[in-house]
Amino acid sequence: MKFDILTLFPEIFDAVLKESIIGRAQEKNIIEVNAINIRDFTLDKHRKVDDYPYGGGTGMVMMAQPIYDAYMSIVEKLDYKPKVIYLSPQGKLFNQSMAERLKEEKHLILLCGHYEGIDERIIEEIVDEEVSIGDYVLTGGELPAMVLIDCISRLVPGVLAKEEAYLDESLNNGMLEYPQYTRPYEFKGRKVPDILLSGHHANINKWRRRQSIKRTYLKRPDLFSQLNLSDEDRKLLEEDLR
Ligand code: SAM
Repeated sequence: MKFDILTLFPEIFDAVLKESIIGRAQEKNIIEVNAINIRDFTLDKHRKVDDYPYGGGTGMVMMAQPIYDAYMSIVEKLDYKPKVIYLSPQGKLFNQSMAERLKEEKHLILLCGHYEGIDERIIEEIVDEEVSIGDYVLTGGELPAMVLIDCISRLVPGVLAKEEAYLDESLNNGMLEYPQYTRPYEFKGRKVPDILLSGHHANINKWRRRQSIKRTYLKRPDLFSQLNLSDEDRKLLEEDLR
């Protein structure tokens, strides 16, 4: 899977995306991430990429031409149209099921705005989808782009050591993950639940499911209300809450 990022700050991405799991996935060529500097495509002799907003107002607006030319430098070599996502606080809220959908794309172009945002006409001209990472406003689209790349990449087969590693995870099945423990057995008087040392996998799985349901109920009632639980699950939850 390929990610091309259109940004004014390409160097920001190295620190995060060259490390750990996502870094290794790039070394193994499972994913490819390129950050393209929009400023390289300005036609302005002072390398300007933004200008004052028509109609007045504070802040600067990123101009359409450098973004368009940066975009064309990617797509003119292709015989298909990659999906273009503009990271924007006005976009659809990013979540795990959106990540699942986007991992099916072979190539994404992520457009990062800055300052007051970008000229509306570039959105109309090249953008397929606007995506927000939350109901708050950041200074630029770079952190949101990294969030998308990290989250989508770990769903791409081969990126995690075992593909199952994300199947149990929070939100993957609409529930939060059960609690995890590692050594030592006892920490500050708190012991690991005995069931996890029993070696009985069926019982461990049942316990984990029960914990997931309880956690989702307590921490995320919004997710819980969308779960399709069996009568047995509901009975066990009532017992746990007693
Ligand atoms: N004036 C814009 C508005 O009110 O919609 C906000 C511009 S914001 C200061 C600058 C850039 O940061 C945006 O163009 C966008 O790319 C990015 N950005 C800010 N908050 C974001 C969020 N919650 N999700 C995704 N991108 C965001």
